[in-house]
Amino acid sequence: MKIIESIREMQDIAKKAKREQIRIGFVPTMGFLHEGHLSLVRVARKENAQVAASIFINPTQFGPHEDFNAYPRDLERDITLLEREQVDIVFIPKIDQIYSENHRTFVFVEKIAENLCGYFRPGHFQGVVTIVCKLFHIIQPDTAYFGQKDYQQLMVIKKMVADLNMDIEIKGLPIVREKDGLAMSSRNTYLTEEQREQALCLYRLINQAKKMREEGVDRAPEIITALKKNIEMETMVRPEYIRICHPETLKNLQVIKDRALLAMAIHVGKTRLIDNCLL
Ligand code: AMP
Repeated sequence: MKIIESIREMQDIAKKAKREQIRIGFVPTMGFLHEGHLSLVRVARKENAQVAASIFINPTQFGPHEDFNAYPRDLERDITLLEREQVDIVFIPKIDQIYSENHRTFVFVEKIAENLCGYFRPGHFQGVVTIVCKLFHIIQPDTAYFGQKDYQQLMVIKKMVADLNMDIEIKGLPIVREKDGLAMSSRNTYLTEEQREQALCLYRLINQAKKMREEGVDRAPEIITALKKNIEMETMVRPEYIRICHPETLKNLQVIKDRALLAMAIHVGKTRLIDNCLL
């Protein structure tokens, strides 16, 4: 496995692959890898002659009071895990290479980035879209793999790729969960045992919403009210949002006709967690 730090070197490898018509599958990450990340890598491995993963904790997607500095890091372990999955290239650029002092260009996706996390984390998706756009230019993948765990992120990236006519296929893959249902996240490492127990309410709410749908409840506010009531019992949990929205436009729904997305964000202590499911 090649470990590449230099943008130039990465671009040269990408150019060579293009010339030789070698398909590149790409998995962007912020590191501190878990089975969720590795599930993406495994699909990329199956579908492409060359697999590239990136590890970059992108400062522009964190708000001023968010956890950029505390974000967990373990590069050595990440490299071992990627090697085990037979990744060909891991791209680990330095911040000052990606963002020079006079970096002035940002990419912004309208509407679809405005609800849910976009509303509560102003600037977040502009940071995400900008870094993914830059990484796409550097790595030039044929296909890029994202988790449905970050559902809004996946939709925003798909929109960018369509609107900017990028010739890249975006694949969204299912959420990987712990045995008890907690969605895997690098941020789970912040949780104390007690907090982790309470964080499980997210999974409970997903199941509750699914059950209500099965029973024929189709009014979104009725489901949301029931979920909010359920979450009141968890003393350490502060819900940020619980929304039912259209799975493509991400606009809030009143009545569920066909498919709908249940999307939630909560704070447990200082940790912010998200989860979602299609209803
Ligand atoms: P991150 O390192 O958190 O930026 O995540 C990198 C990629 O892994 C993103 O596409 C995430 O959606 C995906 N991912 C993170 N957690 C999970 C999970 N539990 N299941 C599936 N994909 C995930």
